[in-house]
Amino acid sequence: MRYLSTRGEPAALAFDDVLLAGLARDGGLYVPETWPQFSAAEWRALRGKQYHEIAFAVLKPYVGGAIPDADLARLTREAYANFTHKAVAPLKQLDANLWTLELFHGPTLAFKDYALQLVGKLFDYVLGKRGQRITIVGATSGDTGPAGIAAVAGSQHIDIVVLHPNGRTSPVQRRQMTTVLDPNVHNVALEGNFDDCQDLVKALFGDLEFRDRYRLSAINSINWARIAGQIVYYVHAALALGAPDRAVSFCVPTGNFGNVLAADAARRMGLPIERLVVATNRNDIVARTILTGTMALESVAPTITPSMDIQVSSNFERLVFELAGRDGRATSAMMTEFRQSGKLAFPQGMKGALADGFDAGAASEGETLNTIAKMRLTTGEIVDPHTAVAIHVAQRAKSDAPIVVASTAHPAKFPDAVEKATGIRPALPDFLADLFEREERVDILPNDAATLKKYVAAHAKAQ
Ligand SMILES: *Cc1c(COP(=O)(O)O)cnc(C)c1O
Repeated sequence: MRYLSTRGEPAALAFDDVLLAGLARDGGLYVPETWPQFSAAEWRALRGKQYHEIAFAVLKPYVGGAIPDADLARLTREAYANFTHKAVAPLKQLDANLWTLELFHGPTLAFKDYALQLVGKLFDYVLGKRGQRITIVGATSGDTGPAGIAAVAGSQHIDIVVLHPNGRTSPVQRRQMTTVLDPNVHNVALEGNFDDCQDLVKALFGDLEFRDRYRLSAINSINWARIAGQIVYYVHAALALGAPDRAVSFCVPTGNFGNVLAADAARRMGLPIERLVVATNRNDIVARTILTGTMALESVAPTITPSMDIQVSSNFERLVFELAGRDGRATSAMMTEFRQSGKLAFPQGMKGALADGFDAGAASEGETLNTIAKMRLTTGEIVDPHTAVAIHVAQRAKSDAPIVVASTAHPAKFPDAVEKATGIRPALPDFLADLFEREERVDILPNDAATLKKYVAAHAKAQ
């Protein structure tokens, strides 16, 4: 298996190169050259298998020989060994036709663990073979940072520098980062907001000399390996509900479009998915784009679902590439137009394909809180606000098939919203019960690229 850039660069890299590179050199995102196809018999053969066995089967064609099978099997087994639920990603039935797919049984209680625990192992494996070191630099508004740190803490081959906006993440999220004291983990509380953090990270990646010198690498969902790792739980869930002999639908709380893109990838691989429903909060650019065929930028409003407070969903480019018939030049022109004008009207054919492939809806703050309260009353379940957004949207979606909501975070990660809705403050699981007693280590830096570069230079061992 080789990988291409969505902007047309005919790089044709292998999986391990794509893993380390993150973003393509022409500014595009890597996508597989072709979509692996599974027959009904091949899906059926995976029924009843353990999560890590399904992970191996799904990832094997994407890895495409870049890692020997025996090693890939070991890495997938190790990646999910410390998850706190034996099923790793269990399904829970909430209503006659409604399920949640719980993706919060990893070490940092959000779905990002499911891909990142594996990506951390893949990084270590490939770097160990090559005798290389890298420096991961990333910005987080709350969930990616903890999951990324948990995935690489203690690695002999990786330094990780994570920027979060000082004072603007939840105390649980901050402590999930700052209490990790391994010497390769470097937390920066930036005097600025999340956009400032992202701009500084972009500035470092934009300085090619600096980027090459410290071998900068990324762990956000522009990295293809993350998308590949997320395909697994859609397959696991669909098989449990009767696929390939019965179709299922999924409804996914969406920000950067990485999670729902993995469901789309599963569908392209032949998994029978009836409807894919994109759920957003009031930062609803993706939902509007699907419903109207025009992508139009607005400003970001803060909500009780902060992991979806986003306007430019970087992974949407991977879908644009497919809708454009995998034409890199056309994709590049459209993305450039969108960046320059903040608006992009898709041509009729693409508009139709978008509407055929996806449904979409948004939930207000009030609707989100109501849904948490209603779920508590009708099912006894306490769901996190991101999950509640998707439940609200799923309950209004048309689907004959069972509809599965991706439950992307544990309610204890967002205790204020849950308490407001239910009067109950959800407790952290036992293994995090002492989180607020643990020692913190963090460096507060001004919003300045030169200072950050000095900081990275002082801490990165890759040079
Ligand atoms: C990251 C995140 C999302 C959004 O996922 P995308 O892949 O960015 O669309 C939704 N919910 C939670 C809890 C998250 O952490």
